[in-house]
Amino acid sequence: MDNKTNQWREDFPILNQKVNDENLVYLDNAATTQKPQAIINDIDKFYQHDNANVHRGVHTLAERSTEQFEAARVKIQKFINAQHSDEIIYTKGTTDALNIIARSFGEENIHEGDEIVISYLEHHSNLIPWQQLAIKKHATLKYIELDKDGFVDLEDAKKKITDKTKIVSIAHVSNVLGVINPVKELASLAHMHGAVMVVDGAQSVPHMPVDVQDLDCDFLAFSGHKMLGPTGIGVLYGKEALLNAMPPVDYGGEMINFVHLYETSWNDLPWKFEAGTPNIAGAIVLGDAVDYLEKIGMQNIFDYENKLVAYVLPKLLKIDDLIVYGPHDPKKHTSVISFNLKDLHPHDLATGLDMEGVAVRAGHHCAQPLMGYLGVNATARASFYFYNTVEDADTLVKSIVATKEFFKNGTV
Ligand code: PMP
Repeated sequence: MDNKTNQWREDFPILNQKVNDENLVYLDNAATTQKPQAIINDIDKFYQHDNANVHRGVHTLAERSTEQFEAARVKIQKFINAQHSDEIIYTKGTTDALNIIARSFGEENIHEGDEIVISYLEHHSNLIPWQQLAIKKHATLKYIELDKDGFVDLEDAKKKITDKTKIVSIAHVSNVLGVINPVKELASLAHMHGAVMVVDGAQSVPHMPVDVQDLDCDFLAFSGHKMLGPTGIGVLYGKEALLNAMPPVDYGGEMINFVHLYETSWNDLPWKFEAGTPNIAGAIVLGDAVDYLEKIGMQNIFDYENKLVAYVLPKLLKIDDLIVYGPHDPKKHTSVISFNLKDLHPHDLATGLDMEGVAVRAGHHCAQPLMGYLGVNATARASFYFYNTVEDADTLVKSIVATKEFFKNGTV
Protein backbone atom coordinates (compact mmCIF):
# COMPACT_ATOMS: atom_id res chain seq x y z
CA MET A 1 0.00 0.00 0.00
CA ASP A 2 2.80 2.45 -0.77
CA ASN A 3 3.08 4.88 -3.67
CA LYS A 4 4.42 2.11 -5.87
CA THR A 5 1.49 -0.22 -5.28
CA ASN A 6 -1.18 2.47 -5.56
CA GLN A 7 -1.99 2.12 -9.24
CA TRP A 8 -4.49 4.99 -9.24
CA ARG A 9 -2.24 7.76 -8.00
CA GLU A 10 -0.48 8.27 -11.31
CA ASP A 11 -3.84 9.06 -12.94
CA PHE A 12 -3.86 12.35 -10.98
CA PRO A 13 -1.39 14.79 -12.54
CA ILE A 14 -1.87 17.46 -9.88
CA LEU A 15 -0.43 15.17 -7.20
CA ASN A 16 2.88 15.10 -9.01
CA GLN A 17 4.22 18.49 -7.89
CA LYS A 18 6.27 20.14 -5.17
CA VAL A 19 4.79 22.55 -2.66
CA ASN A 20 7.28 24.54 -0.62
CA ASP A 21 10.03 22.32 -2.07
CA GLU A 22 8.36 19.17 -0.73
CA ASN A 23 6.31 16.53 -2.55
CA LEU A 24 2.64 17.52 -2.35
CA VAL A 25 0.63 15.37 0.05
CA TYR A 26 -2.99 16.26 -0.61
CA LEU A 27 -5.15 15.49 2.42
CA ASP A 28 -8.03 17.91 1.88
CA ASN A 29 -10.31 15.49 0.07
CA ALA A 30 -13.34 16.18 2.25
CA ALA A 31 -13.28 19.73 0.86
CA THR A 32 -12.80 18.63 -2.73
CA THR A 33 -11.08 15.76 -4.53
CA GLN A 34 -8.54 15.93 -7.33
CA LYS A 35 -9.43 14.91 -10.88
CA PRO A 36 -7.85 12.07 -12.88
CA GLN A 37 -6.42 12.90 -16.31
CA ALA A 38 -9.28 10.94 -17.95
CA ILE A 39 -11.85 13.30 -16.40
CA ILE A 40 -9.86 16.39 -17.39
CA ASN A 41 -9.74 14.97 -20.94
CA ASP A 42 -13.49 14.30 -20.93
CA ILE A 43 -14.25 17.96 -20.17
CA ASP A 44 -12.04 18.95 -23.10
CA LYS A 45 -13.60 16.34 -25.35
CA PHE A 46 -17.12 17.60 -24.68
CA TYR A 47 -16.24 21.19 -25.54
CA GLN A 48 -14.13 20.19 -28.55
CA HIS A 49 -16.67 17.82 -30.13
CA ASP A 50 -20.13 17.76 -28.64
CA ASN A 51 -21.01 21.10 -27.05
CA ALA A 52 -24.64 22.08 -27.65
CA ASN A 53 -27.59 22.88 -25.42
CA VAL A 54 -29.62 19.88 -24.32
CA HIS A 55 -33.22 18.88 -25.05
CA ARG A 56 -34.04 21.79 -27.35
CA GLY A 57 -32.44 20.93 -30.64
CA VAL A 58 -32.83 18.35 -33.37
CA HIS A 59 -29.38 18.91 -34.84
CA THR A 60 -26.68 16.31 -34.37
CA LEU A 61 -24.64 18.07 -31.68
CA ALA A 62 -27.78 18.77 -29.62
CA GLU A 63 -28.74 15.11 -29.90
CA ARG A 64 -25.26 14.05 -28.87
CA SER A 65 -25.09 16.29 -25.83
CA THR A 66 -28.64 15.36 -24.78
CA GLU A 67 -27.91 11.68 -25.14
CA GLN A 68 -24.76 11.94 -22.99
CA PHE A 69 -26.50 14.16 -20.44
CA GLU A 70 -29.33 11.64 -19.97
CA ALA A 71 -26.98 8.64 -20.12
CA ALA A 72 -25.03 10.13 -17.19
CA ARG A 73 -28.29 10.33 -15.24
CA VAL A 74 -28.81 6.59 -15.73
CA LYS A 75 -25.22 5.89 -14.60
CA ILE A 76 -25.84 7.91 -11.43
CA GLN A 77 -29.18 6.13 -10.89
CA LYS A 78 -27.44 2.75 -11.00
CA PHE A 79 -24.54 4.00 -8.86
CA ILE A 80 -26.86 4.71 -5.90
CA ASN A 81 -29.33 1.98 -6.88
CA ALA A 82 -32.28 4.31 -7.38
CA GLN A 83 -35.35 2.64 -8.88
CA HIS A 84 -35.89 5.18 -11.66
CA SER A 85 -33.62 7.57 -13.56
CA ASP A 86 -36.18 10.37 -13.15
CA GLU A 87 -35.44 10.27 -9.42
CA ILE A 88 -32.04 11.80 -10.19
CA ILE A 89 -32.19 15.61 -10.29
CA TYR A 90 -29.07 17.50 -11.36
CA THR A 91 -28.22 20.31 -8.94
CA LYS A 92 -25.25 22.59 -8.30
CA GLY A 93 -24.16 20.37 -5.41
CA THR A 94 -25.19 19.10 -2.00
CA THR A 95 -26.04 22.56 -0.68
CA ASP A 96 -28.31 23.26 -3.63
CA ALA A 97 -29.99 19.85 -3.31
CA LEU A 98 -30.73 20.30 0.40
CA ASN A 99 -32.09 23.81 -0.21
CA ILE A 100 -34.40 22.45 -2.93
CA ILE A 101 -35.84 19.89 -0.49
CA ALA A 102 -36.40 22.58 2.16
CA ARG A 103 -37.91 25.06 -0.28
CA SER A 104 -40.12 22.54 -2.06
CA PHE A 105 -41.04 19.64 0.22
CA GLY A 106 -40.49 21.78 3.33
CA GLU A 107 -42.53 24.80 2.22
CA GLU A 108 -45.37 22.49 1.24
CA ASN A 109 -45.41 20.13 4.21
CA ILE A 110 -44.15 21.99 7.27
CA HIS A 111 -46.76 23.84 9.29
CA GLU A 112 -46.89 25.60 12.64
CA GLY A 113 -46.09 23.21 15.49
CA ASP A 114 -44.42 20.60 13.27
CA GLU A 115 -40.95 19.36 14.09
CA ILE A 116 -37.79 19.02 12.03
CA VAL A 117 -35.06 16.83 13.52
CA ILE A 118 -31.36 17.16 12.70
CA SER A 119 -28.22 16.57 14.80
CA TYR A 120 -25.37 18.54 16.39
CA LEU A 121 -22.87 17.40 13.79
CA GLU A 122 -24.56 18.76 10.67
CA HIS A 123 -22.74 20.81 8.05
CA HIS A 124 -24.27 24.30 7.76
CA SER A 125 -25.83 23.31 4.45
CA ASN A 126 -27.87 20.66 6.28
CA LEU A 127 -28.71 23.03 9.11
CA ILE A 128 -29.51 26.54 7.88
CA PRO A 129 -32.17 25.50 5.32
CA TRP A 130 -34.07 23.70 8.13
CA GLN A 131 -33.45 26.45 10.68
CA GLN A 132 -34.81 29.10 8.32
CA LEU A 133 -37.76 26.92 7.32
CA ALA A 134 -38.59 26.37 11.00
CA ILE A 135 -38.44 30.12 11.69
CA LYS A 136 -40.65 30.92 8.70
CA LYS A 137 -43.23 28.25 9.48
CA HIS A 138 -43.19 28.55 13.29
CA ALA A 139 -42.06 24.94 13.45
CA THR A 140 -39.59 23.49 15.97
CA LEU A 141 -36.04 22.48 15.08
CA LYS A 142 -34.71 19.68 17.30
CA TYR A 143 -31.14 18.41 17.61
CA ILE A 144 -30.26 14.77 18.27
CA GLU A 145 -27.36 14.39 20.73
CA LEU A 146 -24.11 12.64 19.82
CA ASP A 147 -22.80 9.64 21.75
CA LYS A 148 -19.35 9.58 23.36
CA ASP A 149 -17.64 8.72 20.06
CA GLY A 150 -19.51 11.42 18.15
CA PHE A 151 -22.10 9.24 16.38
CA VAL A 152 -25.68 10.50 16.12
CA ASP A 153 -27.19 8.78 19.14
CA LEU A 154 -30.02 6.39 18.27
CA GLU A 155 -31.37 6.34 21.83
CA ASP A 156 -31.73 10.11 21.82
CA ALA A 157 -33.17 9.96 18.29
CA LYS A 158 -35.94 7.71 19.64
CA LYS A 159 -36.84 10.52 22.05
CA LYS A 160 -36.50 13.39 19.59
CA ILE A 161 -38.39 11.84 16.67
CA THR A 162 -42.10 11.93 17.46
CA ASP A 163 -45.45 11.96 15.68
CA LYS A 164 -44.96 15.71 15.25
CA THR A 165 -41.76 15.14 13.23
CA LYS A 166 -42.15 15.75 9.51
CA ILE A 167 -38.50 15.75 8.41
CA VAL A 168 -35.37 14.03 9.75
CA SER A 169 -32.17 15.18 8.01
CA ILE A 170 -28.78 13.73 8.93
CA ALA A 171 -25.27 13.51 7.48
CA HIS A 172 -24.42 9.95 6.46
CA VAL A 173 -20.73 10.61 7.23
CA SER A 174 -19.59 13.58 9.35
CA ASN A 175 -17.19 15.96 7.59
CA VAL A 176 -15.49 16.58 10.96
CA LEU A 177 -15.67 13.45 13.11
CA GLY A 178 -15.49 10.85 10.36
CA VAL A 179 -18.29 8.76 11.86
CA ILE A 180 -20.80 6.82 9.74
CA ASN A 181 -24.21 7.59 11.18
CA PRO A 182 -26.97 4.97 11.44
CA VAL A 183 -29.09 6.55 8.70
CA LYS A 184 -30.87 3.29 7.84
CA GLU A 185 -32.11 2.96 11.42
CA LEU A 186 -32.97 6.67 11.50
CA ALA A 187 -34.96 6.29 8.26
CA SER A 188 -36.94 3.47 9.80
CA LEU A 189 -37.59 5.56 12.94
CA ALA A 190 -38.64 8.54 10.81
CA HIS A 191 -41.03 6.36 8.79
CA MET A 192 -42.57 4.85 11.95
CA HIS A 193 -43.65 8.39 12.78
CA GLY A 194 -44.71 9.37 9.25
CA ALA A 195 -41.69 11.63 8.64
CA VAL A 196 -39.39 11.69 5.63
CA MET A 197 -35.68 10.88 5.88
CA VAL A 198 -33.16 13.15 4.18
CA VAL A 199 -29.56 11.94 3.96
CA ASP A 200 -26.67 14.34 3.38
CA GLY A 201 -24.40 12.04 1.39
CA ALA A 202 -21.65 14.58 0.61
CA GLN A 203 -19.05 12.57 2.55
CA SER A 204 -20.42 9.06 2.05
CA VAL A 205 -21.29 8.68 -1.64
CA PRO A 206 -17.67 9.33 -2.80
CA HIS A 207 -16.17 6.82 -0.35
CA MET A 208 -18.46 3.80 0.12
CA PRO A 209 -21.28 1.90 -1.55
CA VAL A 210 -24.53 3.80 -0.99
CA ASP A 211 -27.80 2.10 -1.89
CA VAL A 212 -30.84 4.34 -1.51
CA GLN A 213 -33.26 1.42 -1.63
CA ASP A 214 -31.40 -0.40 1.11
CA LEU A 215 -31.20 2.74 3.28
CA ASP A 216 -34.82 3.47 2.40
CA CYS A 217 -34.08 7.18 2.58
CA ASP A 218 -36.55 9.53 0.91
CA PHE A 219 -33.94 12.01 -0.28
CA LEU A 220 -30.17 11.89 -0.74
CA ALA A 221 -27.92 14.85 -1.61
CA PHE A 222 -24.32 14.74 -2.87
CA SER A 223 -21.69 16.75 -4.78
CA GLY A 224 -19.76 15.81 -7.91
CA HIS A 225 -16.57 17.66 -6.95
CA LYS A 226 -16.04 15.42 -3.90
CA MET A 227 -16.03 12.32 -6.13
CA LEU A 228 -13.58 13.25 -8.93
CA GLY A 229 -16.08 15.38 -10.88
CA PRO A 230 -16.06 19.11 -11.51
CA THR A 231 -17.50 21.79 -9.22
CA GLY A 232 -20.99 23.13 -9.86
CA ILE A 233 -22.68 19.74 -10.38
CA GLY A 234 -24.39 17.57 -7.80
CA VAL A 235 -27.39 15.36 -7.29
CA LEU A 236 -30.69 15.37 -5.51
CA TYR A 237 -32.17 11.89 -5.32
CA GLY A 238 -35.79 11.68 -4.22
CA LYS A 239 -38.41 8.94 -4.27
CA GLU A 240 -40.50 9.38 -7.38
CA ALA A 241 -43.85 9.72 -5.60
CA LEU A 242 -42.50 12.45 -3.32
CA LEU A 243 -40.82 14.38 -6.14
CA ASN A 244 -43.98 14.13 -8.25
CA ALA A 245 -46.03 15.68 -5.48
CA MET A 246 -43.54 18.49 -4.85
CA PRO A 247 -43.75 21.93 -6.47
CA PRO A 248 -40.80 23.23 -8.50
CA VAL A 249 -38.59 25.85 -6.85
CA ASP A 250 -37.08 27.60 -9.86
CA TYR A 251 -39.10 28.76 -12.84
CA GLY A 252 -37.99 29.23 -16.44
CA GLY A 253 -37.08 27.19 -19.50
CA GLU A 254 -37.08 23.38 -19.51
CA MET A 255 -39.21 22.92 -16.40
CA ILE A 256 -42.54 23.60 -18.11
CA ASN A 257 -45.03 21.65 -20.12
CA PHE A 258 -47.36 24.43 -21.35
CA VAL A 259 -47.09 28.13 -20.62
CA HIS A 260 -50.29 30.14 -20.96
CA LEU A 261 -50.60 33.83 -20.29
CA TYR A 262 -51.84 33.39 -16.74
CA GLU A 263 -50.89 29.84 -15.78
CA THR A 264 -48.27 27.20 -16.47
CA SER A 265 -48.16 23.42 -16.22
CA TRP A 266 -44.97 21.71 -15.11
CA ASN A 267 -42.75 19.31 -16.99
CA ASP A 268 -42.36 15.69 -15.86
CA LEU A 269 -39.58 14.56 -13.56
CA PRO A 270 -36.69 15.13 -13.46
CA TRP A 271 -36.87 18.27 -15.63
CA LYS A 272 -39.51 19.93 -13.38
CA PHE A 273 -36.64 20.71 -11.02
CA GLU A 274 -34.05 21.63 -13.67
CA ALA A 275 -34.97 25.15 -14.80
CA GLY A 276 -32.72 26.82 -17.33
CA THR A 277 -29.63 25.54 -19.10
CA PRO A 278 -28.00 23.03 -16.77
CA ASN A 279 -24.32 22.30 -16.18
CA ILE A 280 -24.21 19.99 -19.20
CA ALA A 281 -20.48 19.22 -19.27
CA GLY A 282 -20.52 18.83 -15.48
CA ALA A 283 -23.32 16.26 -15.57
CA ILE A 284 -21.75 14.25 -18.40
CA VAL A 285 -18.36 14.24 -16.71
CA LEU A 286 -19.93 13.28 -13.37
CA GLY A 287 -21.21 10.21 -15.23
CA ASP A 288 -17.62 9.55 -16.33
CA ALA A 289 -16.44 9.96 -12.71
CA VAL A 290 -18.99 7.33 -11.70
CA ASP A 291 -17.54 5.01 -14.36
CA TYR A 292 -14.04 5.61 -12.99
CA LEU A 293 -15.10 4.92 -9.40
CA GLU A 294 -17.03 1.81 -10.40
CA LYS A 295 -14.00 0.46 -12.23
CA ILE A 296 -12.15 0.49 -8.91
CA GLY A 297 -15.26 -0.59 -6.98
CA MET A 298 -16.80 1.38 -4.13
CA GLN A 299 -16.28 -1.48 -1.67
CA ASN A 300 -12.59 -1.58 -2.64
CA ILE A 301 -12.32 2.17 -2.08
CA PHE A 302 -14.00 1.84 1.32
CA ASP A 303 -11.74 -1.09 2.32
CA TYR A 304 -8.59 0.68 1.13
CA GLU A 305 -9.40 3.88 3.04
CA ASN A 306 -10.22 1.81 6.14
CA LYS A 307 -6.76 0.25 5.92
CA LEU A 308 -5.19 3.71 5.71
CA VAL A 309 -7.16 4.79 8.79
CA ALA A 310 -6.15 1.64 10.68
CA TYR A 311 -2.54 2.56 9.86
CA VAL A 312 -2.56 6.29 10.59
CA LEU A 313 -5.02 6.75 13.47
CA PRO A 314 -2.98 4.83 16.09
CA LYS A 315 0.11 6.82 15.02
CA LEU A 316 -1.73 10.11 15.45
CA LEU A 317 -3.06 9.01 18.85
CA LYS A 318 0.52 8.39 19.99
CA ILE A 319 1.64 11.99 19.31
CA ASP A 320 1.91 13.83 22.64
CA ASP A 321 -0.37 16.87 22.88
CA LEU A 322 -2.36 15.90 19.78
CA ILE A 323 -6.09 15.81 20.52
CA VAL A 324 -7.99 13.64 18.03
CA TYR A 325 -11.76 14.18 17.81
CA GLY A 326 -14.27 11.47 17.04
CA PRO A 327 -13.80 7.76 17.77
CA HIS A 328 -10.30 6.47 18.58
CA ASP A 329 -11.11 2.99 17.35
CA PRO A 330 -10.09 2.89 13.65
CA LYS A 331 -12.94 0.45 12.95
CA LYS A 332 -15.40 3.22 13.82
CA HIS A 333 -13.60 5.93 11.88
CA THR A 334 -13.71 6.83 8.19
CA SER A 335 -10.89 8.67 6.43
CA VAL A 336 -11.84 12.14 7.73
CA ILE A 337 -9.74 12.86 10.85
CA SER A 338 -9.93 16.08 12.89
CA PHE A 339 -7.35 17.07 15.47
CA ASN A 340 -5.71 19.92 17.37
CA LEU A 341 -2.28 20.37 18.86
CA LYS A 342 -2.56 21.59 22.45
CA ASP A 343 -1.95 25.35 22.77
CA LEU A 344 -1.59 25.85 19.01
CA HIS A 345 -4.19 27.44 16.75
CA PRO A 346 -5.22 24.96 14.02
CA HIS A 347 -4.40 27.59 11.37
CA ASP A 348 -0.81 27.61 12.64
CA LEU A 349 -0.78 23.83 12.55
CA ALA A 350 -2.13 23.80 8.97
CA THR A 351 0.40 26.46 7.94
CA GLY A 352 3.20 24.39 9.49
CA LEU A 353 1.98 21.32 7.58
CA ASP A 354 1.81 23.30 4.34
CA MET A 355 5.50 24.17 4.82
CA GLU A 356 6.07 20.39 4.66
CA GLY A 357 3.93 20.10 1.51
CA VAL A 358 0.96 18.63 3.39
CA ALA A 359 -2.45 20.11 2.51
CA VAL A 360 -4.99 19.89 5.34
CA ARG A 361 -7.91 22.16 6.21
CA ALA A 362 -8.24 24.20 9.39
CA GLY A 363 -11.32 26.01 10.62
CA HIS A 364 -14.85 25.26 11.73
CA HIS A 365 -15.52 23.12 8.63
CA CYS A 366 -18.96 24.76 8.17
CA ALA A 367 -20.04 23.06 11.40
CA GLN A 368 -20.01 25.81 14.03
CA PRO A 369 -22.63 24.16 16.30
CA LEU A 370 -20.47 21.01 16.32
CA MET A 371 -17.39 23.08 17.24
CA GLY A 372 -19.43 24.47 20.18
CA TYR A 373 -20.45 20.91 21.10
CA LEU A 374 -16.76 19.86 21.10
CA GLY A 375 -15.81 22.99 23.06
CA VAL A 376 -13.39 24.31 20.41
CA ASN A 377 -13.41 27.16 17.90
CA ALA A 378 -11.78 25.19 15.13
CA THR A 379 -9.84 22.02 14.28
CA ALA A 380 -7.32 20.87 11.71
CA ARG A 381 -8.63 18.10 9.44
CA ALA A 382 -6.85 15.55 7.30
CA SER A 383 -9.07 13.68 4.86
CA PHE A 384 -7.88 10.84 2.65
CA TYR A 385 -9.02 9.40 -0.68
CA PHE A 386 -8.12 6.21 -2.53
CA TYR A 387 -5.11 7.84 -4.22
CA ASN A 388 -3.48 8.58 -0.85
CA THR A 389 -0.88 6.17 0.45
CA VAL A 390 0.85 4.94 3.58
CA GLU A 391 3.70 7.30 2.62
CA ASP A 392 1.23 10.21 2.71
CA ALA A 393 0.10 9.05 6.15
CA ASP A 394 3.72 8.84 7.36
CA THR A 395 4.44 12.33 6.03
CA LEU A 396 1.38 13.67 7.87
CA VAL A 397 2.51 12.16 11.16
CA LYS A 398 6.12 13.31 10.70
CA SER A 399 5.01 16.82 9.74
CA ILE A 400 2.71 17.20 12.74
CA VAL A 401 5.60 16.29 15.02
CA ALA A 402 7.92 18.71 13.16
CA THR A 403 5.34 21.52 13.42
CA LYS A 404 4.90 20.84 17.11
CA GLU A 405 8.66 21.03 17.67
CA PHE A 406 8.91 24.18 15.58
CA PHE A 407 6.32 26.04 17.64
CA LYS A 408 7.76 24.72 20.88
CA ASN A 409 11.42 25.42 20.19
CA GLY A 410 11.33 27.84 17.28
CA THR A 411 13.26 25.26 15.25
CA VAL A 412 12.58 21.97 13.47
N1 PMP B 1 -22.52 18.31 3.76
C1 PMP B 1 -21.34 17.83 4.12
C2 PMP B 1 -21.28 16.74 5.16
C3 PMP B 1 -20.18 18.32 3.53
O1 PMP B 1 -18.99 17.85 3.90
C4 PMP B 1 -20.27 19.33 2.54
C5 PMP B 1 -19.03 19.90 1.88
N2 PMP B 1 -18.03 20.31 2.76
C6 PMP B 1 -21.53 19.80 2.19
C7 PMP B 1 -22.64 19.26 2.82
C8 PMP B 1 -21.72 20.87 1.17
O2 PMP B 1 -21.28 20.46 -0.08
P1 PMP B 1 -21.16 21.52 -1.28
O3 PMP B 1 -20.34 22.66 -0.76
O4 PMP B 1 -20.47 20.74 -2.35
O5 PMP B 1 -22.54 21.94 -1.64
